[in-house]
Amino acid sequence: MAYPCHVTSERTGRSAASDPPESRGPGGGGTVTELRVFYDDAALAHVAPGGEFDVPASRRLAVEEPHPDRRERVENVVGILRSELAAETTWTGFDPATPTQLQRVHEPSYVAEIRTWAGEGGGRLTPDTGGNTETYRAALTAAGGAVAAAERAIEADDEVPYALVRPSGHHAQSDRADGFCFFNNVAVAAAHLLATDRADRVAVVDWDVHHANGTQEIFYDRDDALVVSLHQDHDSWDEETHPQACDLTERGTGDGTGYTVNVPLPPGTGDDGYQYAVAELVEPVVASYDPDAVLVSAGQDPGTVDPLGRNAVTKSGFESLGADARRIAADHAGGSLALVQEGGYHLSHVAYATLGVLEGVLDVETGVGDPYANVPGDTRSAKRAVDEAVAAHGDFWPLR
Ligand SMILES: [Zn+2]
Repeated sequence: MAYPCHVTSERTGRSAASDPPESRGPGGGGTVTELRVFYDDAALAHVAPGGEFDVPASRRLAVEEPHPDRRERVENVVGILRSELAAETTWTGFDPATPTQLQRVHEPSYVAEIRTWAGEGGGRLTPDTGGNTETYRAALTAAGGAVAAAERAIEADDEVPYALVRPSGHHAQSDRADGFCFFNNVAVAAAHLLATDRADRVAVVDWDVHHANGTQEIFYDRDDALVVSLHQDHDSWDEETHPQACDLTERGTGDGTGYTVNVPLPPGTGDDGYQYAVAELVEPVVASYDPDAVLVSAGQDPGTVDPLGRNAVTKSGFESLGADARRIAADHAGGSLALVQEGGYHLSHVAYATLGVLEGVLDVETGVGDPYANVPGDTRSAKRAVDEAVAAHGDFWPLR
């Protein structure tokens, strides 16, 4: 399968010949194929506090619930890739993000605050967001993985980079942690491409079931980063740490007016609802924007049984989203595409869903089914919501 070439050695002075060293990572990989996974065990060391979601354990329940953001999420994705996509996958190490990279999108004082907080043992920063002594290193590494994947998206024309990182990033704002996120990995990566002249325009497409409020806030007044967020129609969950409304009224400001494209979707949107949103809104907007790279905030928590979302997307639906991302990047961004892991909290479905995304991206079929594909979507409600979003954004973008 041939993909459009988008080698930018004349812009960056780099070439595919300067590959980072390949590791014999958890996949035992070695042969260069089409999927390059940027992975580091630091992702497993971050431990968020347990209890009853956003409150410490009470005496009401007999069993303490671990925090939804558990290391097993990532371990299961690693496991299913080793099992089902070993031949297609190269595992690659990378460096943590540098202070310069982080401070393009985060206040220096905030970065220092997270370092100090983790160094002193961590704990809860917000009701739902906390960590341990390893959280700063894990977050720094996660941002570095996103940067490495984004660089690779520009440099390589025959593979898809995927940053399998944890903690996630898309809720982290310039000066605050939120929603299990500390540093905004995809924003750090997008800002890196822009600041180093690897790209003039970057499109971030976020299909995590939660709103990309952090990514939105960081790029709200800029037109060199487009932020398209498909998310369950939820409000701010905390006035202090999550002041964004996440709705159709938030469209950017100043130079950024129009470049925040929110698409609130109803619970149970389902596979067909997401396809409708991509066809009616995501693809025409990205096509019109004509970016140099597409970065996908790939949260698989719209999955059928995800405890924090349940937008009823099956593995098959995620395959379609992966294929859409690859096609949109090929047609409108010179083939430059990178995936950055965000949420996904059902410990086994996140692995099947992510496998689906990657099968779609790679145009391969493993034959693995979805053990949880038993929740029907509500396509009618979804189409109504997408039509409302199209009407809201249609004055700025060429939508029907
Ligand atoms: Zn999420």
